[in-house]
Amino acid sequence: MLWKDGKKKALTLSYDDGTIHDRRFIDMLNKYGIKCTFNLISGVFRDDHFEVDYSETPIEDHKWVIVAKDEVGKLYEGHEVASHTVTHPRMNALSFDEVKTEVNDDRKVLKELTGYEINGFAYPWGEYDDQLIQRLDSLGIVYARNVEDRQDFSIPENFLSWNPTCHHDNPDLINLFNKFIESDNEGELFYLWGHSFELYINNNWDVLEEFFKLVSLHKDEIWFATNMEIYNYVKENK
Ligand SMILES: [Zn+2]
Repeated sequence: MLWKDGKKKALTLSYDDGTIHDRRFIDMLNKYGIKCTFNLISGVFRDDHFEVDYSETPIEDHKWVIVAKDEVGKLYEGHEVASHTVTHPRMNALSFDEVKTEVNDDRKVLKELTGYEINGFAYPWGEYDDQLIQRLDSLGIVYARNVEDRQDFSIPENFLSWNPTCHHDNPDLINLFNKFIESDNEGELFYLWGHSFELYINNNWDVLEEFFKLVSLHKDEIWFATNMEIYNYVKENK
């Protein structure tokens, strides 16, 4: 299988929790034309626009500062918004009714803010099991991301148990990407995930900048797509 426009490779990203550090992260993505899926927790959106002074020493406490509700539509435009529940619970412990409320209430708010149906999902705390997969399926969720670095470039057998290639802090990030781009295999996917607040706390935005620069050198060979675009393309073409 070739990807869109006959490209051999595709790249997708998935970033969680919707903290204010997404603002700086999205500026970087847009500079390189790279697409990302953002998994948002609608129950904790702020009412005000909190700003961080980036010259400050990184402060652990700032990691959970969430974006304001009224900036969601504009901020994430051109990328994808997906569900990460209303309150970020440990989902294996929930009843089906509780799962339904966490997922569907989140999708409803996110749909109002973005204008489109939300059928993608990321598991809070990376916690899932077979029962939860079935429950999400019954609610019309079509893909759901886990947190185990596969360190490979395959398309998942089951999109409701979709593991990424690696986290941006994986020390093999650049090696993995070089392996990905040097291989002749068609239809491969590089899937990066993380949280933008980690870049703030660890002050390692340069890791992403270096990765994006490397990726952009190969932009003619790689389709930059959101998670949902990858899912839809695979369903239509495989
Ligand atoms: Zn999360």
